[in-house]
Amino acid sequence: MRHVLMIVNPTSGRATALARAQQLAGLLTAAGRVVELHVTRAAGDARHWAAALGGSADLIVSVGGDGTLNEIINGLVDAGWRTPILPVAMGTANVVSLELGLPSEPEALVGVALAGRRRSLDIGLVERAGVATSRFVMCLGAGFDAEVVARVHAARGPRGITQRAYARPLLAALLRRGRPLTRVVADGTVLTDTASLAIVANLGRYGGDRRVCAEARCDDGLLNVCWVDGHVRGALPRFVAGWLTDRLRPGRGICFAHASRVELRSAGAVPVQIDGDPAGELPVSVSVLPGAVNVLVPDRPSGLDA
Ligand SMILES: [Mg+2]
Repeated sequence: MRHVLMIVNPTSGRATALARAQQLAGLLTAAGRVVELHVTRAAGDARHWAAALGGSADLIVSVGGDGTLNEIINGLVDAGWRTPILPVAMGTANVVSLELGLPSEPEALVGVALAGRRRSLDIGLVERAGVATSRFVMCLGAGFDAEVVARVHAARGPRGITQRAYARPLLAALLRRGRPLTRVVADGTVLTDTASLAIVANLGRYGGDRRVCAEARCDDGLLNVCWVDGHVRGALPRFVAGWLTDRLRPGRGICFAHASRVELRSAGAVPVQIDGDPAGELPVSVSVLPGAVNVLVPDRPSGLDA
């Protein structure tokens, strides 16, 4: 591991990512590594650099949020590279770092970069009309949560977003009436025609250190599904309360399943979010790419879920 490609999103989270990246680059250089640092200016930059430069690096360090990591993963899979990734959590939710048990202190992160263990991660593949359009590491959501994401991103300024930015959009979405509902099909079986929210998850955590699909594993070759029945009164507020308290349970309009292929469609216009960013509308078909990406994790498996 000599050549490190570091991709930093300076606007992620509280906009301190660039300072952290420069600190990490200094520590890695002192340890004898050659660090090539790229700062994103626009959406798509991280994906482009991962595809163009990922093959000649021994390690890619993603300094940003889950959105930056999503772009790097898409770029690597596009180009067919298997270069390991070290996610450095500087975003709002940092679900992937939490799920992998990664540290946040710079010295500990450099320790993982120098002597971490490789672990393979499944990736979700999103297709529209039979064409692969994107991939996700955390989840795809349709309906309620994608409405919240769209409202947050419409109001997003140049300094990034915090968890608090979600409160008002969340309330507004909870108060909405007449939302078009979604059909959820798992491995060919129709699970529901009336979902107000459908989440297809690769990881257990969702939107921070709280779980939606607590049983999801990122290396079992399966997708987990959680949906909320739009015909059951109070189910969406119960979902939000259950998620906020990390005590989401099945029942009273909140349902779970797992499958290797999930199809979501609606008669109305239902928005989609992928890894926390707006991603068009239904219909989509989601499948899993088992072990498609390598990540570095601490050598001692403390904090690992699997
Ligand atoms: Mg899984």
